[in-house]
Amino acid sequence: MFGLIGHLTSLEHAQSVAKELGYPEYADQGLEFWCMAPPQIVDSITVTSITGQTIYGKYVESCFLPEMLASQRIKAATRKILNAMAHAQKNGINITALGGFSSIIFENFNLQKITQIRNLTLDLQRFTTGNTHTAYIICRQVEQAAAQLGIELSKATVAICGATGDIGSAVCRWLDVHTEVAELLLVARNQERLGELQAELGRGKILGLETALPMADIVVWVASMPKGVEIDPDALKHPCLMIDGGYPKNLATQIQHPEVHILNGGIVEHCLDIDWRIMQIVNMSIPSRQLFACFAESMLLEFEQWYTNFSWGRNQITVENMEKIGQVSVKHGFSPLLLPSG
Ligand code: NDP
Repeated sequence: MFGLIGHLTSLEHAQSVAKELGYPEYADQGLEFWCMAPPQIVDSITVTSITGQTIYGKYVESCFLPEMLASQRIKAATRKILNAMAHAQKNGINITALGGFSSIIFENFNLQKITQIRNLTLDLQRFTTGNTHTAYIICRQVEQAAAQLGIELSKATVAICGATGDIGSAVCRWLDVHTEVAELLLVARNQERLGELQAELGRGKILGLETALPMADIVVWVASMPKGVEIDPDALKHPCLMIDGGYPKNLATQIQHPEVHILNGGIVEHCLDIDWRIMQIVNMSIPSRQLFACFAESMLLEFEQWYTNFSWGRNQITVENMEKIGQVSVKHGFSPLLLPSG
């Protein structure tokens, strides 16, 4: 059995969906209440591969909210993630993806040091960040959506916002050796880490967001920001492809510009309907088929019975592993979400 550990994007979002999930008593509660709420299994999932194989899974709501980080409730945030992992393991789940901020919190606060949760010792082999598949899918979205727009990658400038992150650095590696884009612009705040990435790649310009955006034909957004940023579409290149892989979204503005194309990043579509209801709650446009690529990674590991933490640690994703997970992604009927045609 596979598992997905997820969270909602804001307190407002959590309050609005509490009733739908069958928890009306949570609907009027503030952040303090959510800080105390235990993890819950709120959905059972059945997925059938294009090969005909069927697997079963559970969705664990961690009750973490990004406002916990913004308001420095770090202890509550870390407790949410560890308790959700313990809950997944206690329920016999073999491989569980740590969605959205779950893996970021795990890494940022060094939670591998705390594997004893009451009477349960966490078996970390049962968890994956799902970031290898996410990075692979974002790269395929760059390649395929650029083709949809007639952007020639060998002449294109690609800005990666969040370049030094786990997903961002993997995307840079792939675009360097696999796709051969003309120019990579590396955007993040910590200059030392940017310098290390530039040295590893042997290329890439380190720039601030304001300078990078007007130069880019394609912008990949994979920054771990609890709240999205506002941008001016007139200050961008036209056409410009923006692939927003953030959860919550990195872009706060609903951009309405004919030459600026926004694509929901790190999202896959399955070729068959999935029996679940959870993707309605995170506003996918086709909730029965669309999902986060990190969640799909735990399904792929279950299909293949690779019961191992395929994606783990930070900035260790290799192009080889992206190809490996990519092959089984195609084999089981997942494809990257693309721009609407026409
Ligand atoms: P990491 O924490 O590993 O990396 C985050 C990156 O963002 C770092 O480069 C960090 O560098 C940068 N960053 C953070 N804040 C800012 C800022 N204000 N301006 C510019 N850069 C910033 O995160 P991950 O790679 O694990 O995840 C990235 C995003 O992808 C998250 O939003 C996450 O929720 C989402 N995600 C989506 C998935 C999907 O399936 N679609 C799956 C998993 C994650 P610095 O701190 O130096 O600025």
